[in-house]
Amino acid sequence: MRDSISRKAVLLAVLVAAPPVLALYIYAGSAVVRLSSLVAAIAFVLAAWLFAQSLIRRIQALTGFVDRLLDQRVPRARLNASDDELGELARSLFRVAPQIDELFNRVTTELARREAILASMTEGVLAVDARLYVTFCNQAFLGAIGDHGAVEGQPLLKIVRDPNLFQILKRVVDSSETVTQRLQLPTAQGRTFDVHAVPLTGTNPRGAIAILHDITPTERLERTKRDFIANVSHEIRTPLATIRGYAETLLDGGLEDSQNRRKFVEIIQANGVRLNNIAADLLTLSELETGRPEAQPGVIPLSEVLTGAIRAVEPAASLMGVRVLSETIPDLWISGHRLRLEQAFLNLLDNAVKFNKSGGEVRVSVSGGAEGPIQIRISDTGIGIPPADLARIFERFYRVDKARSRQVGGTGLGLSIVKHAIEQVHGAVAVESQLGRGSTFTVTLPSCKVGMATPLA
Ligand code: ADP
Repeated sequence: MRDSISRKAVLLAVLVAAPPVLALYIYAGSAVVRLSSLVAAIAFVLAAWLFAQSLIRRIQALTGFVDRLLDQRVPRARLNASDDELGELARSLFRVAPQIDELFNRVTTELARREAILASMTEGVLAVDARLYVTFCNQAFLGAIGDHGAVEGQPLLKIVRDPNLFQILKRVVDSSETVTQRLQLPTAQGRTFDVHAVPLTGTNPRGAIAILHDITPTERLERTKRDFIANVSHEIRTPLATIRGYAETLLDGGLEDSQNRRKFVEIIQANGVRLNNIAADLLTLSELETGRPEAQPGVIPLSEVLTGAIRAVEPAASLMGVRVLSETIPDLWISGHRLRLEQAFLNLLDNAVKFNKSGGEVRVSVSGGAEGPIQIRISDTGIGIPPADLARIFERFYRVDKARSRQVGGTGLGLSIVKHAIEQVHGAVAVESQLGRGSTFTVTLPSCKVGMATPLA
């Protein structure tokens, strides 16, 4: 018999009953008395065992109740709540059960909420224990370090092979102070993070938790801004210096130089025009990027937009000895701002003429449409674009041949304007080119039914 209440009760009953039975056995002469005392003793032990069994059953019922207290799927059994101490315990358990249920529900909801918050956070979250083993991390952190699968329980250094992050968390664990630092993680393709690490107080042993905020896009944007300002300054410095130089030459006696003074003034004028072009292109680009003009797009006939652009480029083309040929433009409708789109096509046509050869051709053709997308092709027989430059020509101020572009009055902003204007109306622009043979720019635009303008991006 295991060490149970039953065994103890039986043992106690035997210990209690044995001395009187023995005494009666020794001192009572009558066999009846002896036998009666033995029977009484056995009955006593049996009663003790039965009593212990009933206690055991009630205690087992209480144990079962407690065991299932946190399992809300199982219906609660009714307990025997008689008027003794065990009954009191049963009543007490009944009283606390709903409170435990509520606490359990609150903790479960809180956990689910925390999980959802951590999972939806764009910041990486990482928790470590005092040995700097990972105890928790969210999906954003795994994404940033290139998902190592199961990382919990692994040493931090094994997962993020970066001594800096390790040092930050070690400092926090050792000193219990908050640390904020910017670092680049080699395991996250060199992305830059602002790390904010705090000690995990109230946990035993101590640990630390770090929030990693990916600032790579902000940094990239700042760099683009810096580059842009540097580019703009560089672009306007040359014409400004030229204007200033020739103005000084005129003032220093050039005005009396009847042979050259007209040439000097023409140079000043040409550079003034160049500055004006840069300013106008920058303004257009800025308007496109900030989404202005805010007027609603209209539904416009493609033929009008293309014809307008072709007409505008014709004088320059005839000066260059370039023929602009256009196939019949079908009756198709597009959605957008007429002036913006006309300007985009004009920029493409202007380039096709500018970077052409004397006697060359520019062809405009249109395909697709009706329900599907419309393709507008502008092909030229010009100088072409080297394959290495193709991917970059839509960048602001990017020019294959700076000198030639300047010579023909280019600002390096024309194709950026095209890209923005076309993408704003949910279109796309692509280029194919063969060096020395010519280029083809293809603009794809969604076709539009009359009276159905697509909102701009
Ligand atoms: P730009 O004001 O110099 O024309 P763009 O942004 O319009 O600036 O074009 C960028 C560069 O792309 C040009 O300087 C030129 O080198 C190249 N490019 C654009 N269109 C053509 C073309 N049709 N043929 C050859 N090169 C072109």
